[in-house]
Amino acid sequence: MKNQRRYPTIQNAEETIIRHCQDKKLELYGDAADEWVAGRLKQELKAICENGNAVAFLAAKNLTDRARAAGHLSGINGTLGSSLTAFLLGITGINPLCPHYRCDKCKHVELVPDAASGFDLPTKLCPKCGEMMTGDGHDIPFDSFGGQNGEKIPEISLIFTSEITAKGRELLQEIFPEDIIVRAGHLHKTKSNAEKFGLHPGGWFVIPVQYKDDVKIITFHEYLVTAQDYRELTDRYLKLNILSFDNLDNLYKLSSETGVQLEKIPMNDPNALASHRFSDLWIKEIPKSQAVCRAIIDVQLMWFKLNHPEEYTRACAKSTAPNSCPLDV
Ligand SMILES: [Zn+2]
Repeated sequence: MKNQRRYPTIQNAEETIIRHCQDKKLELYGDAADEWVAGRLKQELKAICENGNAVAFLAAKNLTDRARAAGHLSGINGTLGSSLTAFLLGITGINPLCPHYRCDKCKHVELVPDAASGFDLPTKLCPKCGEMMTGDGHDIPFDSFGGQNGEKIPEISLIFTSEITAKGRELLQEIFPEDIIVRAGHLHKTKSNAEKFGLHPGGWFVIPVQYKDDVKIITFHEYLVTAQDYRELTDRYLKLNILSFDNLDNLYKLSSETGVQLEKIPMNDPNALASHRFSDLWIKEIPKSQAVCRAIIDVQLMWFKLNHPEEYTRACAKSTAPNSCPLDV
């Protein structure tokens, strides 16, 4: 599989992702949790590097870092959240390790393997230093993203605010200055069963310049676009999805206007969880201080809303009245 790939290169991509992961592992878990964290990380990095996917992870990290440096929010779509590598690189906030508490001050760690999710764990003070511990980990195997041996084609789907998404091509060109950045073309069936050519909502290919004549590229709606359906090219060329969602824009605005830093809101925050149970209300009906929590719930529900009307989604939240981790919704 690796030999068929015509991926672009970033100098020292493998060494760079390994170094970043090791540094972040040390920052979060110290050097005590060696087998537990390091075993999984070693296995993932081996699969990623042997299958030639280091450049995909590094490109995703670079995009996320650029968005964050500009003060914007980012997230992921799809199975990337099953990768510890993606978590340690800062691409996603979803930690796939088994549920656990960790102390950010003294690095003390307690595993809670029977919990459904680390976000559900009740607050707890560190028995060693007295600091508030962080509950994390959702017990997700890497296979979901990479296949049993990391052989799956990486599906890198990132979500950003619309301001960042609009700069998708520009950002990719900064990361891959020598290569050709091309929007993914999409063939889909219309209601009358005819095939129609359009644009993938946020898919971009990075075509190494030496292969530019092997991919037919057309100009379509002011973009350079693959002339064929993108699915025929994903086995061979690197594709990154740079998507935007309205709710991320809402969160960004709310955070800017209220001064509430989203990452400072604990995942088991009682106000955020309570707002699940009143999700048929609208933001304007609740105090400004809780509006950020409400918007977070909206984002958590948005995946579900992709396939269902908003009214239906809100009715589900109301009838189930969840009282634990949003990931369980
Ligand atoms: Zn501690």
